[in-house]
Amino acid sequence: MCVFKRFVFKCNHNSWGKEARPCQKQRDFRASGKGDQCIESIAHPLHTITLPQKCDYCVQVEAERTKQKQHQDEIILKIRDTLAGAKAQLKKWENNEPSKELTTTVSKADLKGVIIDNNDVEIEKDEAWDGVA
Ligand SMILES: [Zn+2]
Ligand SMILES: [Zn+2]
Repeated sequence: MCVFKRFVFKCNHNSWGKEARPCQKQRDFRASGKGDQCIESIAHPLHTITLPQKCDYCVQVEAERTKQKQHQDEIILKIRDTLAGAKAQLKKWENNEPSKELTTTVSKADLKGVIIDNNDVEIEKDEAWDGVA
């Protein structure tokens, strides 16, 4: 069994490096060119290198997750903005304020897919949004 270098990453994943110390069988094979090549590799503490970084795979996965999280956060922020705008708009309508003061950018499209808690904002008729967009 030949000793190979082994890299252990921060994430505990590991990978094999180059051969560190060939065994007798492998040395014989190389010297004579006869017999079988050794196909067993083992790690040894002396040839195991602990690396402070995560492996490529984990770095990639993490970057992907961060991207997804950012995207989700953006959507949540947009929904919050939309809801805040909708609430402000409804309040103005309830108070019968002149429509020229309505400067919100809330549109039907913005509200599509947004679930509005009925206890929070009450929208009785879909037509109520016709004047908004
Ligand atoms: Zn070997
Ligand atoms: Zn990893």
